[in-house]
Amino acid sequence: MADQAKTPVVAEAHLVDTFHPPQKMLDKHPSKPHISSLEEYQQLYKESITEPEKYWARKARELLTWTRDFETVRTGSLANGDVAWFLEGQLNASYNLVDRHAFKDPNKVAIIYEADEPNEGRNLTYGELLREVSKVAHVLKKMGVRKGDTVAIYLPMIPEAIIAFLAITRIGAVHSVVFAGFSADSLRDRVLDAQSKVVITSDEGKRGGKLIGTKKIVDDALKQCPDVSSVLVFKRTGADIPWTPGRDLWWHEEVEKWPSYIAPEVMNSEDPLFLLYTSGSTGKPKGVMHTTAGYLLGAAMTGKYVFDIHDGDRYFCGGDVGWITGHTYVVYAPLLLGVSTVVFEGTPAYPNFSRYWEIIEKHKVTQFYVAPTALRLLKRAGDDFVKAHMPELRVLGSVGEPIAAEVWKWYFEVVGKEEAQIVDTYWQTETGSNVITPLAGVTPTKPGSASLPFFGIEPAIIDPVSGEEIHGNDVEGVLAFKQPWPSMARTVWGAHKRYMDTYLNVYKGYYFTGDGAGRDHEGFYWIRGRVDDVVNVSGHRLSTAEIEAALIEHHAVAEAAVVGVADELTGQAVNAFVAIKDGNESSDALRKEFILQVRKSIGPFAAPKAVYIVPDLPKTRSGKIMRRILRKILAGEEDQLGDTTTLSDPSIVDKIIKTVHESR
Ligand code: ATP
Ligand code: MG
Repeated sequence: MADQAKTPVVAEAHLVDTFHPPQKMLDKHPSKPHISSLEEYQQLYKESITEPEKYWARKARELLTWTRDFETVRTGSLANGDVAWFLEGQLNASYNLVDRHAFKDPNKVAIIYEADEPNEGRNLTYGELLREVSKVAHVLKKMGVRKGDTVAIYLPMIPEAIIAFLAITRIGAVHSVVFAGFSADSLRDRVLDAQSKVVITSDEGKRGGKLIGTKKIVDDALKQCPDVSSVLVFKRTGADIPWTPGRDLWWHEEVEKWPSYIAPEVMNSEDPLFLLYTSGSTGKPKGVMHTTAGYLLGAAMTGKYVFDIHDGDRYFCGGDVGWITGHTYVVYAPLLLGVSTVVFEGTPAYPNFSRYWEIIEKHKVTQFYVAPTALRLLKRAGDDFVKAHMPELRVLGSVGEPIAAEVWKWYFEVVGKEEAQIVDTYWQTETGSNVITPLAGVTPTKPGSASLPFFGIEPAIIDPVSGEEIHGNDVEGVLAFKQPWPSMARTVWGAHKRYMDTYLNVYKGYYFTGDGAGRDHEGFYWIRGRVDDVVNVSGHRLSTAEIEAALIEHHAVAEAAVVGVADELTGQAVNAFVAIKDGNESSDALRKEFILQVRKSIGPFAAPKAVYIVPDLPKTRSGKIMRRILRKILAGEEDQLGDTTTLSDPSIVDKIIKTVHESR
């Protein structure tokens, strides 16, 4: 056994290299990063923490256009769960995303639509976007949608999804987007929970060369949603679809009836902007509610400083608009800043694994942002697919899960050719925008660390046993935030007590993230994954993310998931599930190699007691590994798997159960 006292608390920090913003990235920069140095960041950061009202008032006036100025910058507290920002202020989201840019330059491209089939896409300018949004806003009004009503969006990744977002916000309604990969039951639950009376959808979807019966799924869901009075259907493929006269209306027929301008509704800063259900990796999805001004400011701020967005940039976030990443970084951040955003309908594997890189080449993309799950897939496919010429690329973002150092390095070297900066952005549906993240062009980075807090974010590491904050560096615990920030969620829809109990009552006076984290000797943050995902072996608190990262270093490993199981001797033992790359055979020898890999890279105490080689891991539709399912299977509680409707491939569960049984 390794002597715990000799193991540095934040082990990897002492071993990894620090990467400075690449000189080549600065050389090809159209001007220079918005922030000139790490020192300038530190100085501004300090101001944002010690004088938050002064700092945020300045930024809110600089980045947003207000119909009426605010007077009270911030009220309320984390302890009381009544935080509010920019009171008395009035503004409209769609005005800030569209009108102000359309007035300045109507011909500037707002949306670069890259269709599922290469070469079937098109561009939409800011001028066109304003006209389309206005028409749909008229249609929604006609359907009876009023200020404050929720409207459900169940659309594939097409420009109309963005038009729908903006039309809803234009009339002061609240969008509730449901990822169009969800089943009818999941859609039904969200429509009912949000009390939506109108649903916007398409006849079909097209993804990776396959057709998806979108409208049919909506019809199935709505059988149990008696309050839905209208369904607006965009014709994507022209397929024959079921139709309910009186309820269903064609998008293209309705928009023809209305003029191309409608004045935006004047909204108060704290009026709800949208609801979004979390991915459900830990339990029943929560309807997270964001409000207008604070959320918009968080999106604009992080777009500008984290991704260093400049006027002529073309920004490509590969996330789906059904998730928070798609909300904030496909729609809000790039359009608030008036640049072009890529809306990609397809998958990174169609027609082949070069698709992302070809899109980047074709549209001269400057910033690219995607989840580690996609990067693992593409790394697994092999470097030969990364042939595209991507000279404009300056920033490569990662989001949604810890990114293993091996994958980070592949992203940096093979994709970015060491000419683009990696930003590993940590945040949540509830935080609205990036909260712990490097700033491109400014912050030095360490593979696997989300680095430093964004402006206004004051992280605290808390000892989960005593509930006390642990000060100083080189510490490990759970991650919380000490101050409210503008883009934090204000409530869970219709369940404020759940909001308080999940985030604000756990450690009074703090916002609790639910994630474990370490702060290393230089103050850099290392996200360990959810608190439930920590394994405790003989008193060593091991992060599943760290063991998984070690496993991925093995050449045969495509993906790995680690969980703890009860063990008489050690309290908990490490068990690993591994999906291997094509061309490798499952064998005892291979399993031994995997165990050895962890012993070598972390220490014998972290070595898995069992390794299961499985065809794939259980993942949510947003690509996150659902470890709670693996824990249940190992505990023999296969009949108590809980909500599995958010799994992308439910059939994988039975295959994993079989593997576990066979090896016992
Ligand atoms: P649910 O709350 O329903 O379980 P979820 O937490 O997966 O779903 P999201 O809000 O989409 O839903 O994800 C936020 C979580 O994703 C974070 O709490 C964290 O665990 C993880 N995460 C996001 N970005 C990073 C990152 N850069 N590094 C490590 N983990 C990350
Ligand atoms: Mg969560």
